[in-house]
Amino acid sequence: MTTFSINCNNDDEPVLATRVHTLIVGSGAAGLNAAVQLKRHGIDDLLIVTEGLKMGTSINTGSDKQTYYKMSLCSGDGDSPYAMAESYLNAGGMHGDLALVESALSTRAFFNLVQLGVRFPQDRWGQFPGYKTDHDPARRATSVGPYTSREMCLALIAEVQRLKIAVQERCYVHKLLTVKEGDNLRVCGALAVNAQGKHIALAADNIIFAVGGPGALYQTSVYPAVQTGAIGVALEAGAVAQNLQESQYGLASTQFRWNLSGSYMQVIPTFFSTADDGVSDVREFLRDTITEAPKLCGLIFRKGYQWPFDVRKVKDGSSLIDLLVYNESVIKGRRVFMDFRINPTGFEINALDSEAHEYLARSGALQATPIARLEQMNPGAVELYRTHKIDLHQVPLEIALCAQHNNGGLAANHWWESVNIKGLFPIGEVNGSHGVARPGGSALNAGQVGGIRAAEYIASRGNKSAFDLNDFEAAAEAALRDTKWFLKRCKRSKSSLEEGASAMRARMSRAGAQIRSAAALEEALEAAQQAFAWLQVEGCAVAGKGAAVKALNFRQLSLAQLVYLETILYYVGCGAGSRGSAMVVKDDGIDHPHPEEWLMEPENPEFREMVLESVFEDGATRNQWVGRRPLPVEESWFERVWADYRAGRIF
Ligand SMILES: Cc1cc2nc3c(=O)[nH]c(=O)nc-3n(C[C@H](O)[C@H](O)[C@H](O)COP(=O)(O)OP(=O)(O)OC[C@H]3O[C@@H](n4cnc5c(N)ncnc54)[C@H](O)[C@@H]3O)c2cc1C
Repeated sequence: MTTFSINCNNDDEPVLATRVHTLIVGSGAAGLNAAVQLKRHGIDDLLIVTEGLKMGTSINTGSDKQTYYKMSLCSGDGDSPYAMAESYLNAGGMHGDLALVESALSTRAFFNLVQLGVRFPQDRWGQFPGYKTDHDPARRATSVGPYTSREMCLALIAEVQRLKIAVQERCYVHKLLTVKEGDNLRVCGALAVNAQGKHIALAADNIIFAVGGPGALYQTSVYPAVQTGAIGVALEAGAVAQNLQESQYGLASTQFRWNLSGSYMQVIPTFFSTADDGVSDVREFLRDTITEAPKLCGLIFRKGYQWPFDVRKVKDGSSLIDLLVYNESVIKGRRVFMDFRINPTGFEINALDSEAHEYLARSGALQATPIARLEQMNPGAVELYRTHKIDLHQVPLEIALCAQHNNGGLAANHWWESVNIKGLFPIGEVNGSHGVARPGGSALNAGQVGGIRAAEYIASRGNKSAFDLNDFEAAAEAALRDTKWFLKRCKRSKSSLEEGASAMRARMSRAGAQIRSAAALEEALEAAQQAFAWLQVEGCAVAGKGAAVKALNFRQLSLAQLVYLETILYYVGCGAGSRGSAMVVKDDGIDHPHPEEWLMEPENPEFREMVLESVFEDGATRNQWVGRRPLPVEESWFERVWADYRAGRIF
């Protein structure tokens, strides 16, 4: 690591620049693991820059039984990379090579965590048993409890510290710098600001971009509030994205953001809604549509293991619950709660369907109330809310249908290098490797696999420098001028950042989330375009500590929102229809999910064979469908693979 300074304008203070071989942006589970892997491959000239080791989704989130997905490792469960890849590919929209790599490396990534001390349960014979998760036929899921990703981060942070990898916290990256390399772009560094608003220039031959999902784009969200995301930074630099339209939504509590999956649903709480004050006009609204109590109880029970909103289950499956909650809260404007103190009207334990009854009976959870059943089945689930000052014995839980994960993100090849910017390696949630639906737990696997792949590839290229430092300086100076100009505007601006950000989040939750229509998207896009154009010229008023970070963050988020909305509108216009976790409504839709006035456009299965790519160029988003890369068919003849491996022909 070397340092030098850059003069942007002669009258300004010089900006401190650091040159490093590989820069890692972000310290979630994905970024931390990439750093560890690079160091193990002998890349010592490394720097992690991050908003903070305690920021991001991985270390701040979890769920009833937070899931990690890997190839099955228990006796009798025959499994293979190809069988696992098929599970990834089933719902469509995912490249075959990425599915194979994520499957093939899943055990390696998993055992790395085991070796680092993450306590995934094993039996007395050393087997790691699994359970079935969403979109998984083969009991590949495992968990250490509600905080799997946090435990992963803690183990990885300890390893980063043991390996003495440099970490710079409170450092916000807001620009990626590129140079031309032939017809392509190559990354050469980044610009950041620290909490005091001081500019930092970072020159790097490789950048691992591990900034997580776009949490701050949504108003109704279960992303932790500290995870804003920074995909807009890469989009502004011209990085190609894919499948931005594919996200995952599900029921979560809003006062304390937490997924309501697993036992929270399996104990069959009561759902009710109220007027705006949260107490008057109480109605058990689900009963208006699902009139038979045993049926309603069965659907609530199944929400436990069918957590994400899934359009295939809206007609009379468990996602009808999600849809009715959305209708009640967003369309009717009422507040919705889950109450563990009382049973749904008409609940009778012996009238439950056989699946729900058997599950509760085998769990010893046939108590009289949902809270008693929850205390029996999962006391930690009650305790968790208590530690966040919500006593489920005393109060109901306010809920909403929330954004939780972006399956899409930046487009990269099977070594996790961006498809159009050399040296840029998007990994973790910001990498859009997933398709229409993904098995539960595969986000955490993908993040670990991406780090292993990127590190191997970078190490194979050795330590030689990839660009001319003069080109970096020119790119950094231009970007600094633009940044300083924008921040000066912000100092004079009369437009409130808070109001702008709140309008942005509301737009996305209204038009770009789980219920989508061309009309709502057009309206939202027009508003987003106007807001972005205004922001570019007028800036946004923000003062006090961290003002520069907040303003630059809002700028990249606003750009990201444009690209997301344009992409979703394009998707809807193509007629790919309702799929995954998003329902497209159309006046001439042919299906009739509840409520009756929503006519759902059915899925057009032809689009499963394609991936939607997006790139932000000359101030607009260009979208195109590309055929999905097939699942590679390899003979895998040992002697040939060995020869290729020895000669480095695998890269
Ligand atoms: C409630 C909930 C439950 C979930 N449950 C599961 C589950 O059971 N199984 C599963 O597989 N997945 C689950 N997920 C998804 C999974 O947790 C995330 O996809 C994953 O943790 C993301 O890891 P990451 O390392 O990519 O990003 P993050 O952990 O979000 O880390 C991003 C890092 O980048 C930093 N950063 C961001 N922008 C910048 C910037 N501009 N400059 C510097 N630093 C920056 C952040 O501060 C942070 O350090 C869940 C998600 C949520 C919200």
